[in-house]
Amino acid sequence: MSKTNGSFMRALCMGKIAEDIIFPYPKMKTDEKETLKTIFSSFSSWLKGKDSDFRKWDKQGEMPKEFLQEMKEFGLFSFIVPEEFGGLGLSVTGYSRVLQELSRYEASVAITAGAHSSIGMKGLILFGTDEQKKKYLPKLATGEMVACFCLTEPSAGSDAAGIKCKAVREGDSWVLNGEKIWITNGGLADFFTVFARTDSPEGQITAFIVTREMAGVSTGPHEDKMGLRASSTVTVSFENVRVPNDHVLGEVGKGFKVAMKILNSGRSGLGGGCIGGMKRAIALSTHQAKSRQQFGKPIADFGLVKQKIGHMVVECYATESVVNLVAGLVDQGHEDYAVEAAISKVFGTECLWRTLDEALQIAGGGGYMCELPYERMLRDARINRIYEGTNDILRLFIALTAMHDVGQQLKELAGSLGKVFLDPIKGFGIFSDYAKKQVSLTTGLGKATFTMAHPSLKEETEIFEECAKDLASFADRILRKHGKKIVDLQFPTRRLADAMIDLFALACVISRVTSSIEEKGPEKAAKEKEILHVFAGQVRRRVKSNFGKIDENDDEQIISLADYALETEGFGWDNL
Ligand SMILES: Cc1cc2nc3c(=O)[nH]c(=O)nc-3n(C[C@H](O)[C@H](O)[C@H](O)COP(=O)(O)OP(=O)(O)OC[C@H]3O[C@@H](n4cnc5c(N)ncnc54)[C@H](O)[C@@H]3O)c2cc1C
Repeated sequence: MSKTNGSFMRALCMGKIAEDIIFPYPKMKTDEKETLKTIFSSFSSWLKGKDSDFRKWDKQGEMPKEFLQEMKEFGLFSFIVPEEFGGLGLSVTGYSRVLQELSRYEASVAITAGAHSSIGMKGLILFGTDEQKKKYLPKLATGEMVACFCLTEPSAGSDAAGIKCKAVREGDSWVLNGEKIWITNGGLADFFTVFARTDSPEGQITAFIVTREMAGVSTGPHEDKMGLRASSTVTVSFENVRVPNDHVLGEVGKGFKVAMKILNSGRSGLGGGCIGGMKRAIALSTHQAKSRQQFGKPIADFGLVKQKIGHMVVECYATESVVNLVAGLVDQGHEDYAVEAAISKVFGTECLWRTLDEALQIAGGGGYMCELPYERMLRDARINRIYEGTNDILRLFIALTAMHDVGQQLKELAGSLGKVFLDPIKGFGIFSDYAKKQVSLTTGLGKATFTMAHPSLKEETEIFEECAKDLASFADRILRKHGKKIVDLQFPTRRLADAMIDLFALACVISRVTSSIEEKGPEKAAKEKEILHVFAGQVRRRVKSNFGKIDENDDEQIISLADYALETEGFGWDNL
């Protein structure tokens, strides 16, 4: 039987558990595992013991040129370049695992390698012509060329479609003008994937390959920033840059799609980085908890310390389950994974943040000192919730995609609802009363069941099924309650997104634990079952709480308080 080539979460929101998408839990290929072991042993001999250098470079806000050269020699720019072009040709799963390993040593190193592969040159791999690939991929594999991704502008961050950087066609080339800000690797790069406005019948935005030697390309000074300080972040400017027509990446006018596809497919790398950070934090915290004595015993003996460590383990396992499952879907050729990839980004970056915060707490005052790695890890991790789509925007994307699907079932509305997907934030104004009624009928019918999970996981799969049923009626109830106002009401949208995020993570953990029980036997998988049990309980409580707030909430008061603060631009109750 062939697998469903669709989205697990989009199906779930319509009341169906498409379990053949997430079962069996994906596995890394044996030969790739061997390759990774060799790579990791070379990382270990190279990077282990370099922590004082990393701390120094964090303070200086830059990594030395010699180290960048070492990164090239150790193949850090070759991971995803196909073998025929001189790269390692790793799968998405393998690549994510490599970034996990690098992140256990140092986040600035991981982001320099990651931005090059995940976003800098990903467009070339996904959309490049044979000529473009032949010309650039061999140089990108060796690091002779470093790549970066240029989308953000001073007036266009989350609203990426609002970019002003402009390319005008002149004969068989384009003249590019504009400025991009906060570009990772921009200061090192020779290869720039650039998005520019090309208002034309074909579409508004086009992606281009720009190279440093083109006249009119310049980069600004290294930004002084909170974290990832040793990585390069700069402004990139284009002044009358003549870009040949054969440097268009993908189709003219389809650049927004190119950008979104790059960001979606790059998320497994970022997820791998989150897992690496969490595993390092768990190693540091367990060591610290056992060696630090207070009140005559190791702090590891205290319940509140154990509670933190236990939660770290659950969140790390859940993140790893999500990230690897999404990477596996991409490797298997699934096309419709954007919602799941967005979920993996939001879930992983927030688990990492909580884990690092708790790790610092376990380290006490020492955790606050720059001599130990905790504060740097926390600073480095903060950006993850902001870049590659803020977690807020991704939550809107996750929930509004689900609501779009619900509406899509209504044939009469199919045409106009298409706009919601293109512009999920603005497009909801079109819901009519008729639509609301129809949506009520279409959803809320979920009779979804899990059949492929291990039978011993009945309790947890029942939790999933129960919450999934609620989810299928969630969008319906929100729409019935709020109708076309939903676009302005982000609180319920966020609740739907949070429920979807939790449920996808739970589905991934169920799939992974099933495969562990089948492979290792119930005894060896007992601890993983415990993790699942704890996580399923957490998910049930959070999902119920989110659903409960559809009717009972303090949203209006919160908005009123925010409006008051916005009006007065401050806190209105100073006691002096
Ligand atoms: C260290 C670093 C590296 C970066 N690297 C790159 C890179 O390599 N390439 C690149 O192109 N960009 C890069 N960026 C830019 C990054 O992607 C943007 O910062 C990000 O997309 C958010 O845009 P913004 O900062 O303009 O925030 P804004 O869009 O101004 O958002 C500010 C806040 O408002 C919220 N918000 C905005 N719109 C809505 C809405 N409709 N509903 C609810 N909330 C909303 C956001 O969630 C956020 O919390 C980098 C940024 C940093 C700091």
